[in-house]
Amino acid sequence: MSLLGKKALVTGGSRGIGAAIAKRLAADGAAVAITYAGNKAAADATVAAIEAAGGTAFAFQADAADPASQRAGVEQAAAALGGIDVLVHNAGVAEFSAVEQDTDEVYDRQFAVNVKGVHVGTRAALPHLRDGGRIILIGSVSGELAFPATAVYSATKAAVAALARGWAKDLAARNILVNAVQPGPIDTDMNPADGDFAQQMMSFIPLGRYGKVEEIAGAVAFLAGPDASYITGTTLNIDGGTAA
Ligand code: NDP
Repeated sequence: MSLLGKKALVTGGSRGIGAAIAKRLAADGAAVAITYAGNKAAADATVAAIEAAGGTAFAFQADAADPASQRAGVEQAAAALGGIDVLVHNAGVAEFSAVEQDTDEVYDRQFAVNVKGVHVGTRAALPHLRDGGRIILIGSVSGELAFPATAVYSATKAAVAALARGWAKDLAARNILVNAVQPGPIDTDMNPADGDFAQQMMSFIPLGRYGKVEEIAGAVAFLAGPDASYITGTTLNIDGGTAA
């Protein structure tokens, strides 16, 4: 129970990687709040699973692409938890298209959720975040290497890694540690292991398989916990060797 007594907010915790992170942080002893965009049933299921295992969880609808909504979600979460020790920015969207097909809307939607939502959410959380706290950003190996038709998504995730590095320096005086976890292909609704895209992806993955959401959650729990006390401003790839 390395996170016993800690309070964690996970954005986009209703499904996929975020739900696994919320469950893992709760299993390690943290009280957890999640946000979700529109899937209340999935958010309620995450909360119910945590409570069934003896944990404490809350869910709040908050659109990370809408600054007012994102701020309200953070405020609700901080009030319900009584402060924040661990902030995990997991909410993200991917819309893959080659540059000839890209539109202003495709660009704006991805930057609004993946970058501005992280920026707005962090600024909203800072007054509630305890000194010695952790901020963990879910980036992507796409932030480091190019796959076909992912340039805009990759650019958002390169920005996420840059925010982690910069905030690590800005917040070091408060001993708030900031890091980015960069998943490779992970089996979720966004990137199903049996989807059309997966056939193409598989050739890039040295370990020859998609990752599991629990494999990302374990790394987030490590970065949130006491063993990561001297790690800040870095990126951790969890990608089966994809970026090697
Ligand atoms: P999913 O699409 O499976 O789940 C996305 C989650 O984010 C859901 O809980 C969803 O809520 C929430 N969400 C989406 N948009 C918003 C929004 N505007 N405001 C608030 N919440 C939102 O995605 P994954 O679990 O696969 O991805 C999670 C993170 O991991 C993302 O940042 C993604 O970019 C990153 N990632 C994923 C990889 C993969 O292969 N799966 C690889 C590398 C990085 P709701 O249920 O309400 O829709």
